[in-house]
Amino acid sequence: MATASTTPSSVPAMPSHMKAWAYTEHGKTTTVLKLNPNFPVPEPKSNQVLIKVVAAAINPIDYVKIEGRMVYEDAEQVPFPIVPGYDVAGVVVKVGSGVKKFKEGDEVYGMVEAKDVGSLAEYTTAQENGLDHKPPNLGFAEAAAIPLAIQTAYGALHKVGLSAGQSILVLGASGGVGSFVVQVAKHVFGASVVAATASTGKLELLKKLGVDMLIDYTKQNFEDLPEKFDVVYDAVGQSERASKAMKEGGKIVTIVPPGVSPAMVFILIPDDGTMLQKLRPYLESGKVVPVLDPKTPFPFSHTVEALSYLQTRRATGKVVIHPI
Ligand code: NDP
Repeated sequence: MATASTTPSSVPAMPSHMKAWAYTEHGKTTTVLKLNPNFPVPEPKSNQVLIKVVAAAINPIDYVKIEGRMVYEDAEQVPFPIVPGYDVAGVVVKVGSGVKKFKEGDEVYGMVEAKDVGSLAEYTTAQENGLDHKPPNLGFAEAAAIPLAIQTAYGALHKVGLSAGQSILVLGASGGVGSFVVQVAKHVFGASVVAATASTGKLELLKKLGVDMLIDYTKQNFEDLPEKFDVVYDAVGQSERASKAMKEGGKIVTIVPPGVSPAMVFILIPDDGTMLQKLRPYLESGKVVPVLDPKTPFPFSHTVEALSYLQTRRATGKVVIHPI
């Protein structure tokens, strides 16, 4: 139960403690991740805001870090207890002294920094640069599904240099990242042809997202097809095979390290918030939409089940925790 600190009677009490999912050692998520009912509410630094979390999305990096399997470790080591979760949507309840973009009561979404208390908690802090105003047409659960995945989609497409009129093959298009890659490639970068792989039951979704060429990987090997592509985006870990689907002079980007040459590896490094701002018109117009897994949202109390489900690598779109 959250405990209230003393405040004047007319001001809603800001709790000093909160519920947060936390781990104090690395191990299996089902073993080490525990609901702490009395975790200190973090204090925002001058360039940060404190957010009452309404929804959070989870990503493979969350269970990879809980298990202590990070291959590209953050420069800064975070001491235990650690609250996981990068993606957040919620309401600003306190602003740091240097914050210019937000005020109390603003509905925001974005990414929490790795070294801070994560988003799988009732409150979290985030740098104002890591956040944007929540698009009004999106609910909190939908907004929480966006930041890490869409920035990975956009950032890697930018790095590989996809340009208007080019063709692209997306490997793993039905997942959290892939479902954004196909939409961003088509609507933001202007790809002429988007081909994509998924298993049989997920092809209909890909069609709805605008995929022109559906490849059922349970029936066809993408590298055996006659079509070759200007760009291959690998969200599965198949960069070795990907080179066989590339046109001469084409490029491959993988988001699953280490990757095999000639694939370039993209690792998301949170930017100054410009990517979310750039993508805002596409999200507001509904040209690019977050895909929420049909089992989603998981209530906050079922966070461990949600992470176990994500870990099956069969999720469709994003897995979201809501309400928090
Ligand atoms: P998800 O767990 O959301 O991906 C699940 C999806 O992957 C499912 O829909 C599944 O579809 C699909 N999939 C699994 N195997 C295959 C396959 N052989 N061929 C085609 N599709 C397949 O993961 P994310 O999308 O969030 O992340 C994808 C990968 O990218 C992860 O390894 C993650 O760690 C990494 N990542 C890296 C980042 C970076 O900065 N470098 C950032 C974000 C993620 P189906 O059921 O049809 O098989």
